[in-house]
Amino acid sequence: MNARRDRVLAEIGIRPRWRLRPSPATSVPPSVEEPAVVEPPSSPGVDGSGSFELDDRAARVARMEWPALKSAVAGCDACGLCKTRTHTVFGVGDERADWMFVGEAPGAEEDARGEPFVGQAGRLLDSMLAAVRLHRGENVYIANVLKCRPPGNRNPEPFEVAQCSPHLVRQIELIRPKLILALGRAAAQLLLSTDASIASLRGRLFRYQGVTTIVTYHPAYLLRNLPDKSKAWEDLCFARATMTGLKAAAPPPS
Ligand code: URA
Repeated sequence: MNARRDRVLAEIGIRPRWRLRPSPATSVPPSVEEPAVVEPPSSPGVDGSGSFELDDRAARVARMEWPALKSAVAGCDACGLCKTRTHTVFGVGDERADWMFVGEAPGAEEDARGEPFVGQAGRLLDSMLAAVRLHRGENVYIANVLKCRPPGNRNPEPFEVAQCSPHLVRQIELIRPKLILALGRAAAQLLLSTDASIASLRGRLFRYQGVTTIVTYHPAYLLRNLPDKSKAWEDLCFARATMTGLKAAAPPPS
């Protein structure tokens, strides 16, 4: 294991002497065609039921280009969170990125600064990005299910997710990343229309609207559950191997 990797592991809280044991998920080069891919219903479920009627607003959002989408989020008053937010938190990064990381909702620091993952969980996310040789803004886009902070960092309400998710759906459509990492339960529930635990979703390939999707723990969860950081590291190795496979399978640029 080289010095750089040792530093990254130390940063995300794993002892440098730790070694990743080959697992079926990481030792087999992943193929997006393999049967492990689970295709969720074509529209995201907001309550785990798999059904989501696009209302007029969602249909309008689905036709927006970046400038309209950004101003729709900035001025959104579709749920009560608009009354308590300081800033909306649209998302950040390369709008043509291969990688997309999806979190839950802004916390206090994100609300204050208008940028996702800039607090303590964000610092861990930056270390996780470094572990797959990514840097904020370079070939990676970071966004949340909710664009406004739930007061006291409570869990998002289903109504808030239903109102806000068209923005994330449209971001994904515009970016067309090669790979999505769903960070934690809110992102996994929305994108995969499932209530299953993160533990049961890890190490598998899913598709969300044709985009290969991998589930891992949310950085805020990892800060509270240090032993699971090694599992997140495995997930990142799996993601990196998956991306290598996806790039090898992609047709050459015309
Ligand atoms: N947690 C999230 O899910 N998103 C953020 O932007 C910050 C913390």
